[in-house]
Amino acid sequence: MEFSHSSALENKKQSTNLCKWCEEIGVSIGEKEKRLILEYLEELIKYNWRINLVAKASDEQILRKHFIDSLACSSLLPKERYVHLLDIGTGAGFPGLVLKIIRPDIFVHLLEASRKKCFFLGHIISLLKLDGVKILNGRAEHFGHSDGYTEGYELVVCRAVAHLSVISEYAFPLLQVGGLFIAQKGPAGMKEFEEGKGAVKVLGGKLKEIKEFVLPGGREKRVILAFRKERVTPSEYPRGNGVPARKPLHTLIVPRGTMHIRTLDKKKLSKMGVVGHKT
Ligand code: SAM
Repeated sequence: MEFSHSSALENKKQSTNLCKWCEEIGVSIGEKEKRLILEYLEELIKYNWRINLVAKASDEQILRKHFIDSLACSSLLPKERYVHLLDIGTGAGFPGLVLKIIRPDIFVHLLEASRKKCFFLGHIISLLKLDGVKILNGRAEHFGHSDGYTEGYELVVCRAVAHLSVISEYAFPLLQVGGLFIAQKGPAGMKEFEEGKGAVKVLGGKLKEIKEFVLPGGREKRVILAFRKERVTPSEYPRGNGVPARKPLHTLIVPRGTMHIRTLDKKKLSKMGVVGHKT
């Protein structure tokens, strides 16, 4: 495997790959954006040796699996300029920071619990001289109840963080009514959708679009789920730190009433429009 060589030859190869794969996913990319992405890739590979940012892989695989995959949701972004986007659990900046490169007009907030990943994000933002990007070091459960953040975004994105019902509990409280939530998922995306759609409804969301595709240069299946927020999210969400992941909503709520619930009271649930409860 070819790790971390920033030779001119390797750069040329990744530049060719970037153009080819962008074309395959229907993303047009200019010279400046190409240069910024390749600089970001090179820096990520360099830092990945010291702090674990993404799984170790060749330069080519990191370009495909993280940068190209992040770009794949760009066709679903609103065409309006200057929207406010939040990326929940951005890690090393996927997809939020990559989207910022190809849509410089968008205001981007990168939410990440890990301090060392936030340090890396700060480094990339200053290296690439990106304006209109802010790092939020903390947990989604906290920001979901914080003034200035609750219902503060027109667009929320989330890639490879947790089950759809868990990330929906993070995302919908932060999204404005009328806003869009884009969840980037792997091969289990459709299964998660079936399991999590009841939770999405409880949180005020409705499915807008599903995009299924194969990642260029390989065979990996990807699913992008886009939801519109139609109603205000009930104020008890998100639950406390760690609770959404420990007790995911889809394990507590079912769309058609068969059972009853452990953590939420029945009255509240019926007010929220949940028909069935699970034991
Ligand atoms: N989205 C990135 C990507 O696609 O490469 C990172 C994925 S990584 C598997 C998941 C990230 O989500 C981790 O960096 C973790 O620290 C962050 N995370 C998990 N739960 C979180 C929460 N409740 N609030 C904020 N960040 C969280």
